[in-house]
Amino acid sequence: MDGQLWVLLVPLFFIGALFGSFFNVVGIRVPRGQSVVHPRSSCGSCHQTLGPVDLIPIFGWLLRKGKCHYCGTPISGVYMLGELAGGVLFAALPLLFPDHLEELWIAYPLVSVLLILTVSDLKYMLLPNKIIYPAMLLFTLLRLLNHPLPLWHYALGFVLGGGILISVSLIATWMGKPAMGFGDIRLMALIGLVIGVKLVLLCVFLSALLGSVIGLALIGSGKLSRSTPIPYGPFIAVGSLVSYCYGDPLVSWYLDLITL
Ligand SMILES: [Zn+2]
Repeated sequence: MDGQLWVLLVPLFFIGALFGSFFNVVGIRVPRGQSVVHPRSSCGSCHQTLGPVDLIPIFGWLLRKGKCHYCGTPISGVYMLGELAGGVLFAALPLLFPDHLEELWIAYPLVSVLLILTVSDLKYMLLPNKIIYPAMLLFTLLRLLNHPLPLWHYALGFVLGGGILISVSLIATWMGKPAMGFGDIRLMALIGLVIGVKLVLLCVFLSALLGSVIGLALIGSGKLSRSTPIPYGPFIAVGSLVSYCYGDPLVSWYLDLITL
């Protein structure tokens, strides 16, 4: 490990937490067609504009004990978790690609888009095209400039990532089960474009596994009924980050296991 990278961890964490706070705002306001700059953030209950202390990522929520300072209404810890995820991921990325720092040009925008989409999907069950289409354009440009694998890996990743989810959706409709949202299909295509065909196949598998395990656990514990739809975007987000950061060792490990 390069000693200089460690020095950057704390500032990267704080920058990531600040971005995480901004991604919360983007994920909540963009689907409503609102500006991400105006008006300033306010309490959803008493509409008091938040002060500097309330706006400190993570610590603002902890200092106020998870309540609005002005009216005492509880504030969901989900936003604080978004800030924490931003901080942890921004600090971790340079450690995950120590020998390929140029990959950070892809990794930081990817984490940013995934955090915004996770907030939107959790809040509205929606993965807005206003985020996904510009992201497709951005990552096409970034991959044209920086592609460790031949370009066809990413093009095929886009086609297969979207194609598999379309097929699953068609089969589900045919069996009379709820189909996958178009947002999920577009997101998987986007992920394929970013991480390539081999890793997007792993992502399809991991997100389905994660979604099933967590879905069944929530139904089993009575927190969710069988008929309640759950947003799939967050599972794709986690599956894609695991595939992107650990996919190659995971695939080799699996291949070793089955060829023993
Ligand atoms: Zn309030």
